Amino acid sequence: MAHTHFLTPGPSELFYTVADHMKTALKENICEISHRSKQFQQIVHHTIAQLRELFQLPDHYYITFTASATEVWERAIQNLSEESTLHLVNGSFSKKFYDFSKQLHRQADKWEVPLGCGFDITQMPTFQSPELLCITHNETSTGVSMPLADIYALRQQFPDALLIVDAVSSAPYPAIDFTQIDSLFFSVQKCFGLPAGLGVWIFNERCVAKAESLLQKGKSIGTYHSIPSLVNAIRKNETPETPNMLGIYLLGKVAEDMNRRGIKTIRQETDGKAAIAYHSLQQYPDKFSLFVSNPNHRSPTVIVANVLNRPAANFIAFCKQYHIVVGSGYGNLKETQIRIANFPTHSKETFRHLADLMEKW
Ligand SMILES: *Cc1c(COP(=O)(O)O)cnc(C)c1O
Repeated sequence: MAHTHFLTPGPSELFYTVADHMKTALKENICEISHRSKQFQQIVHHTIAQLRELFQLPDHYYITFTASATEVWERAIQNLSEESTLHLVNGSFSKKFYDFSKQLHRQADKWEVPLGCGFDITQMPTFQSPELLCITHNETSTGVSMPLADIYALRQQFPDALLIVDAVSSAPYPAIDFTQIDSLFFSVQKCFGLPAGLGVWIFNERCVAKAESLLQKGKSIGTYHSIPSLVNAIRKNETPETPNMLGIYLLGKVAEDMNRRGIKTIRQETDGKAAIAYHSLQQYPDKFSLFVSNPNHRSPTVIVANVLNRPAANFIAFCKQYHIVVGSGYGNLKETQIRIANFPTHSKETFRHLADLMEKW
């Protein structure tokens, strides 16, 4: 049977080495050993070391594990704000981050722009400096990405705020200068091509200090996945709970594979495939139009297009016959849009094939 390529933005196609790593994991009893054993501590150590290399992470940043990115939204608000958060909202994921803050009774502010738009930071309305500034680097629902220079400019504008970046559907593509941000997080079922059920939360000492100051004031910062609890455990290469051990093992192996390939190469390949997709979509103006009009805000990793004259489902069904699964639009945009994931495991050949299918359809 032909291999099916999942160009869906998450869950997405498994990274091409995952099946082999799973077999090894079973052979080595990764799912059966104790999560307090030396063997498992070494796995945690390996995964963190590979991620540090992949992200070129400065030493004083912690890497910790959660259940998912959704969990990090809640933990970040609990641990990094007492009263105020500010959110840049331009789609469903950034909106949920904002909604969580309100549900946790913070004074949540938002700068919201229409779907398909990014932020022109020269036009930012005036906001009081929040304790926590929440930025979604890549809005997966609309295919809008934020230029890193704009994130760094916001850092200059709000030097007292902790700055957290949701990079769920872009990491490890963006070459982030971590000294310009305090925290970043992602889930593994997007660009890393792994089974869902694991989140990675990176943060610095400023975040630790904030969480500890809230604790000293008698505020609730949650329990087992509070920052102090995560830090205590990870210092021993452990996690507070019995974690997704298979997920942590596979992440270390895939990060190692990515390091072997080289992050620079992965970034160049991502750019090349994005160029093919955006170029082909623009070749057929009677069939497709790009959703994101500002080229500087078009995501390299999640490419979103309006489907014209026919239902989007029709194009998706057509591609399926050729073993390519394209993502549908998000939420209300399901009927009229497609979303194409461009993650490290997706090959240039698959993108060329997809371009042919755009022509044929
Ligand atoms: C998928 C996604 C999330 C949520 O990830 P989960 O693994 O479902 O918790 C959060 N933010 C963005 C930008 C996403 O694309």
